[in-house]
Amino acid sequence: MAGASRLFCKASSRFLNAHSKNFRVRPRCFSGLIELPETHQLLEKTCHDFADNELVPIAGQIDKSHTFPKNQIKKMGELGLMSINVSEQDGGTGLDYLAYAIAMEEISRGCASSGVIMSAHNSLYLGPIKTFGTKEQKETFLKPFLNGDKIGCFALSEPGNGSDAGAASTTARLDGDSWVLNGTKAWITNGYEADATVVFATTDKSKKHKGISAFLVPKPTPGLSLGKKEDKLGIRASSTCNLIFEDCRIPKENILGEPGFGFKIAMITLDDGRIGIAGQALGIAQAALECAVEYSKTRIAFGSPIAKLQAIQLKIADMALRIESARLLTWRAAMLKDAKKPFTKEAAMAKLAASEAATFVAHQCIQVLGGMGYVTEMPAERHYRDARITEIYEGTSEIQRLVIAANILK
Ligand SMILES: Cc1cc2nc3c(=O)[nH]c(=O)nc-3n(C[C@H](O)[C@H](O)[C@H](O)COP(=O)(O)OP(=O)(O)OC[C@H]3O[C@@H](n4cnc5c(N)ncnc54)[C@H](O)[C@@H]3O)c2cc1C
Repeated sequence: MAGASRLFCKASSRFLNAHSKNFRVRPRCFSGLIELPETHQLLEKTCHDFADNELVPIAGQIDKSHTFPKNQIKKMGELGLMSINVSEQDGGTGLDYLAYAIAMEEISRGCASSGVIMSAHNSLYLGPIKTFGTKEQKETFLKPFLNGDKIGCFALSEPGNGSDAGAASTTARLDGDSWVLNGTKAWITNGYEADATVVFATTDKSKKHKGISAFLVPKPTPGLSLGKKEDKLGIRASSTCNLIFEDCRIPKENILGEPGFGFKIAMITLDDGRIGIAGQALGIAQAALECAVEYSKTRIAFGSPIAKLQAIQLKIADMALRIESARLLTWRAAMLKDAKKPFTKEAAMAKLAASEAATFVAHQCIQVLGGMGYVTEMPAERHYRDARITEIYEGTSEIQRLVIAANILK
């Protein structure tokens, strides 16, 4: 068993021993109806405590300074969160996608930037390598990336195409024993810190999306440079930048899967990734709800806490309703994936519902706080900014609706 796994198990047994006597199913576990398995409850508590102790105290500051949370990511690696779905056989933590959704929610409740760093690394980088990588590729591109020391990124989008990912214009040409990559990939999460990337490039433009292949590129590699760090609305402690390939030469064996199979790999990867982004959106929404509830109990207006006002209670009810509905959809998608059943439609529904819930709840949270919602002294404005991206990346809300409709109409 690898380091990360061992540490998670150690953390698990530590928590089991310490808490099993008074271990109580929390309301979020839908006690009595859908009870999470004990491992998942323990994971939830571990991540919840980690978020409270390690992420909540720094989230506002690293958002302001655009600082990558290196130490926290390392600690998340020690808990096994940076290889959560990689099998124990491959050296990972070996937990399922329900566990991933739960961990993503709890980490993002503490810090949405840490959430996206975790999700891009787990679902978008490790995901395709664990599924399609050869033994040799896993030695180089998976095993050193399991404990938070090294992280990866995923380069599909381009300046000219995001939703229309099949129109990739980055090219890969076979030259002797090398592939030579040329083109620009845009908006790449973890781009600055990543030690390697999965890149999609066309090997045969005439075949359109069927001519796209996936490649593994270590960083640094001659011919690969970085664009400027994007100055974003939210998730500002995570880096986003262009990856620029100019006659970037990589070994022939660095193709991931078969030539022409890249678009399929990207779509399969994004199905999994949407469960993670749904979890991230739930975490942001939950943080915003908790912020609104706490504030409403202490803020006095017209002689009593505003929580006594029915207008505020209606908002709290609507916020909780959206979160709990989206959480059920997210857990359903994850459980279908874990049961090896089709889940494309369900993952799109989960991502759509959770991201729209996050935007709605963060908006309402600011309303409950009034003026205090609008200033950086309180986290409400950060939740509002962080929520917005969840409706855009890994497929916009419009694309999720198209995926859902296509699955219903087929
Ligand atoms: C912070 C951030 C991080 C990101 N991280 C990554 C990453 O790590 N790796 C990566 O590869 N990409 C990443 N992306 C890119 C992201 O996935 C794309 O921005 C997203 O897919 C949308 O593509 P676009 O920006 O080109 O918008 P466009 O595709 O140009 O869409 C513009 C608008 O048109 C709508 N639209 C487009 N096509 C249709 C259609 N057929 N029907 C209806 N409406 C449509 C869209 O919904 C949207 O409202 C990231 C983006 C951001 C902002």
